[in-house]
Amino acid sequence: MKPRAHGEHSRRARCFTGVTVYGATNVDVVVTGAGQAGLSAAYHLRRRGFAPYRGFVVLDADSAPGGAWAHRSPSLRMATVHGFHDLPDFELPTPDPGAPAREVVPGYFAAYEAKHALPVVRPVRVRAVQPRPDGRLLIETDAGDWSARALINATGTWTRPFLPHYPGHFAGRQLHYADYRGPGSFAGQRVVVVGGGASAIQVLSEVAEVAETVWVTRTPPVYHDGPFTPEVGRAVVAKVEERVRQGLPVRSVVSVTGLGPSVAYRRAEELGALDRRPMFDRLTEHGIAWGDRELTADAIVWATGFRPEIAHLAPLGLRSPGGGIRTDGTQAAADPRVHLVGYGPSASTVGANRAGRSAVNAIVKLLGEPSEAPVRVQPL
Ligand SMILES: Cc1cc2nc3c(=O)[nH]c(=O)nc-3n(C[C@H](O)[C@H](O)[C@H](O)COP(=O)(O)OP(=O)(O)OC[C@H]3O[C@@H](n4cnc5c(N)ncnc54)[C@H](O)[C@@H]3O)c2cc1C
Repeated sequence: MKPRAHGEHSRRARCFTGVTVYGATNVDVVVTGAGQAGLSAAYHLRRRGFAPYRGFVVLDADSAPGGAWAHRSPSLRMATVHGFHDLPDFELPTPDPGAPAREVVPGYFAAYEAKHALPVVRPVRVRAVQPRPDGRLLIETDAGDWSARALINATGTWTRPFLPHYPGHFAGRQLHYADYRGPGSFAGQRVVVVGGGASAIQVLSEVAEVAETVWVTRTPPVYHDGPFTPEVGRAVVAKVEERVRQGLPVRSVVSVTGLGPSVAYRRAEELGALDRRPMFDRLTEHGIAWGDRELTADAIVWATGFRPEIAHLAPLGLRSPGGGIRTDGTQAAADPRVHLVGYGPSASTVGANRAGRSAVNAIVKLLGEPSEAPVRVQPL
């Protein structure tokens, strides 16, 4: 069957999938996103008998493996990441602590996709997921449409950096952590770093080597002295889980883990960069101000977190009155065909691994046996 030539996107998808994309291609399960959460889900789908491409696909907006890790600052080294858990059934060989995480982790993900022959189709951006009258889900993308009986959403947060609003206008340089690329361009300046999490500490530990830093946080940072034990982890996850159960907007696990004695933390402390100040009231042309006290600055780095990338799920009407998507485990309370992994309590590498497995278990219960062969369906 000859594929319809309707531009680069369909050629791209055809080349990666080996399936012909007319209208919509039918599979049992579509996974959106090939970061840690999507790859874990894909691994478990394979284990439970879903055939690559025929039974399920993973659609990923990036042009290469790595998920969010491929976009992090080149200055983030394996020694300074908060902690990294291997994907199921394939160990990350002990990395050089000085190696950039944005090279090591994407290399590992690429090897993982190849080892388990995972059907990742990229670059494919999911634009919207629509309910179909026949009970299936229509996944509309920039490279043709797919139709599925269930969806595992694993689109992460990296593409939704959160910038809080403060009154006033600052004429200097401002950037979010997502655009931070290391300390080099701040040499000799005064830099305000906003945020109380591990990302802010990473920025402080690097920028304070070459510049004067001012650290401001909305609430006093939460410290834990000891290592990040499983008990600490469980307590943190429980907090985030409770919000999601109530249908409130999620907070990431990493945002509530508190600050531990990490390599970055110790370095920032040595450099005297952890003298925290309360949040300023407003921006001024040349800096920041608390009441009538102004402090001039050259740059502001907003290490203020991320929000879940879920806008494409809007047509499904999953949001609860609290503004978040209420889930039971990974399953959307409003639609049992939809699972969110790497979301809320599972937004960490270890959480994403577990969420992938439990989403697939629930989908197997819902769908029963995988279908035998793909069926082509017409677009709505
Ligand atoms: C700044 C920061 C630091 C962190 N540090 C750590 C740490 O040290 N240790 C730790 O355990 N966890 C850390 N986390 C959390 C952790 O990175 C993630 O929770 C984990 O890697 C799981 O990623 P994911 O698969 O959910 O998302 P991602 O890795 O972001 O992958 C999402 C994928 O979905 C794709 N995508 C997005 N939108 C679409 C769309 N519409 N259509 C198709 N594809 C799409 C993206 O291209 C991407 O490939 C950190 C998170 C942040 C934000």
